Amino acid sequence: MVVIGAGQAGLSAAHHLQRAGADFVVLDADAAPGGAWQHRWSSLRLDRANGIADLPGLPLTGDPAERASTAMARYFAEYEAHFALPVRRPVAVRRVTRTDDGFALDTGEGTWTTRGLVNATGTWSRPFWPAYPGRGTFRGRQLHAAQFPEAADFADQHVLVVGGGISALQLLVEVAEVTRTTWVTRRPPVWRDTDFDPDAGRAAVALVEQRVRAGLPPGSVVSVTGLPVTDEVRRARERGVLDRLPAFDRMTPTGVGWDDPRRELDVDVVLWATGFRAALDHLAPLHLRVPGGGIVVDGTRVVAEPRLHLVGYGPSASTIGANRAGRTAVQELLATLAG
Ligand code: FAD
Repeated sequence: MVVIGAGQAGLSAAHHLQRAGADFVVLDADAAPGGAWQHRWSSLRLDRANGIADLPGLPLTGDPAERASTAMARYFAEYEAHFALPVRRPVAVRRVTRTDDGFALDTGEGTWTTRGLVNATGTWSRPFWPAYPGRGTFRGRQLHAAQFPEAADFADQHVLVVGGGISALQLLVEVAEVTRTTWVTRRPPVWRDTDFDPDAGRAAVALVEQRVRAGLPPGSVVSVTGLPVTDEVRRARERGVLDRLPAFDRMTPTGVGWDDPRRELDVDVVLWATGFRAALDHLAPLHLRVPGGGIVVDGTRVVAEPRLHLVGYGPSASTIGANRAGRTAVQELLATLAG
């Protein structure tokens, strides 16, 4: 059995494969443990994350004020060592094709064959940049949230933050501490003044589940639970930082423009906090995408290819969802292979 990816979802699957006594290997493209967490911006601390679930069988400990990137990289490394998980890295899977009794995986390190496959490749390597007319003409700096350095880098520049999710909000508030900002979101932001509501969380997951079952692109589960109103956010609101503008229609050499009413805004930097897409290009040779643009998935099982499970995808794209998906995928896959 092969698991592709050693983030939360891949490690959870590995844990359950090991407990079941299965023969397996985890192939991971990164040079070091930590999944996508190791690459997240330095100001994202554990206590500013949205709630991080422990991996099965070993709790995450440490200082809540620590950077999530270092804390999670250390935790994943400890986890792999503690359970002696067979993780091979850096091994990037480039293409997955069908064989008579399973799959062949082309990697930079040779070809692997397997009867069953758990795909846990996350989204980090597929930052989403929306298309706008004139984007190539903009002479300022454009970067995606995935490349965010630190707020101080933008001192004295006018930064336009695009995106209505939690990452956009957090980065906006940080950058506004050091320089002038403008916020653009497609829809008016939805604020959450109360604590996270588990029922709302479950409803959000159910909605994404419905989408993937219908073969639609999943959308994000972590972004549909509303933007939390923290003290920091309240202060930013009082300073006018959160007065958002609607989506612009085009980019210009010096900024962005709206058509109705016609106006332009000059900025130095455009920060695209516009999310990510599932990193599934290596599965393209299997031709799993349906006209809706997604892959039809029931739970974690790919309906057109029952020996392939997607974990950390769609409804399981959160740390808690990834944990559960790893367990479900392994149980079902082992049952399928046992016939
Ligand atoms: P990842 O952690 O991305 O791991 C994927 C792994 O697959 C990587 O190690 C990568 O190297 C490897 N890989 C990718 N492609 C290949 C390939 N072709 N071949 C081999 N290996 C490959 N969730 C929460 O529950 N709480 C939070 O607070 C929270 N905060 C978030 C903040 C941000 C900014 C973002 C973007 C997401 C956040 N999430 C949060 C979501 C959460 O991080 C993920 O859903 C969760 O960690 C599951 O990760 P994963 O294992 O699916 O993917």
